[in-house]
Amino acid sequence: MRTFIPFEEALETVLSFARPTPIEKMPLSMALGHTLAEGVVAREDIPPFASSAMDGFAVRSEDFVGDPTRSLRITAHIPAGAAEPFFVEPGCTAVIMTGAPFPDGADAVIPVERVQNREGDRVSFNLVPVPGRHVRPAAEDVERGQQVFDAGELITPATLGMLATLGVDPVPVRRPPRVRIISTGDEIVEPSRQPVRGQIRNANGPALCAQVRSAGGQCPGHEHAFDSEAAIRECLFSGAEADLLVFSGGVSMGDHDHVRQVLESMGGVLHFWQVRQRPGKPLAFGLLGDQPFLGLPGNPVSSAMCFEIYVRPLIAHMLRRLTPDAGLLSARLDRTMDKVPDLHYFTRGTAWIDGDGMLRAGDTGPQGSNLYGSVVRANCIIHLPSDVERVLAGSTVLIQMLPWATLSGAPDTGVNP
Ligand code: AMP
Ligand code: MG
Repeated sequence: MRTFIPFEEALETVLSFARPTPIEKMPLSMALGHTLAEGVVAREDIPPFASSAMDGFAVRSEDFVGDPTRSLRITAHIPAGAAEPFFVEPGCTAVIMTGAPFPDGADAVIPVERVQNREGDRVSFNLVPVPGRHVRPAAEDVERGQQVFDAGELITPATLGMLATLGVDPVPVRRPPRVRIISTGDEIVEPSRQPVRGQIRNANGPALCAQVRSAGGQCPGHEHAFDSEAAIRECLFSGAEADLLVFSGGVSMGDHDHVRQVLESMGGVLHFWQVRQRPGKPLAFGLLGDQPFLGLPGNPVSSAMCFEIYVRPLIAHMLRRLTPDAGLLSARLDRTMDKVPDLHYFTRGTAWIDGDGMLRAGDTGPQGSNLYGSVVRANCIIHLPSDVERVLAGSTVLIQMLPWATLSGAPDTGVNP
């Protein structure tokens, strides 16, 4: 087992064990937030036929050459959904509705607003048509045989609309990784309970479950184990099958930190313990059989940050997402920050765009790993590299937006109210 390793090495190790989850068919109506498991090729043109973009008249533009005010004879009425083919003869026109199939013979639509005079079956216009105007050609959006989506794309509301148009229902998706969240600690009580002296409410269980779900994994609910080897073992044996095990607490150096020992006694292999980072130094990672496990430190800030840095990308890699890693942005640091050298810092921050359009970032105040408010106030994680002791105000740092936050909430000079 390696110990006290750099953050980059720890992350690479964790991600190298991301096995893809199986592919399953999901009804389109349930597919939001899932990950496409296969690329999608259009089997038809979209739109499948040429149609009118306006309510109006399908005309032959050649009819108006040398006679711009000419009146035409109405020979057809084409509503949306009309199945039979129509043909517009010279000197004739068809009344046509938006979305109705465009008739042969015609080459333009004059909107109904441009009618000059309409009497019986005769109509004239105050507009000379241009060929192709207000006609939507077939295949304008997507051509048959075109690759519309790649495997690994996240299904957004927009993706869902296009999949519906293409007739992809059900949809091949990766099964969301099943993640067990096990909070350890004799002092932990459920949030609905009134703690007695010495007890605290379980923050990590609910938060980690929510993080799993927001990352595209499934977590039926958090579990709790008391601080004894027997209790942790019992919890591990009794639970449902999972693709990933995440513990909170019980991985430090204390007399009551038993998680690592229990996993090893059950045949688990620890790949690393302790990372050169703050918060979250006691992080542990290994495999129990072929099931990866992470032991996150119990402090709520460490637990939340270790999830964002390690577990969220792990889930994304298991889903074979196209963009599995958080994008890093360059921002200008708002004030000088001192740090312990040799540790990579995940400082909870606020990022905003200043009046000059510059992305800036500052911390959210006191950064103790027990101070959950520092996470609640944050919209980003500021990465402070391990090799420096001080990062000066005005220098460029890398930040990672928190997936549930947006670039708003400027402390003083932001663009958003
Ligand atoms: P541990 O990593 O078990 O030594 O815990 C470190 C600190 O985090 C202790 O102060 C614990 O009381 C606290 N802690 C552990 N688990 C949780 C939890 N699920 N919710 C809130 N605080 C916790
Ligand atoms: Mg503990």
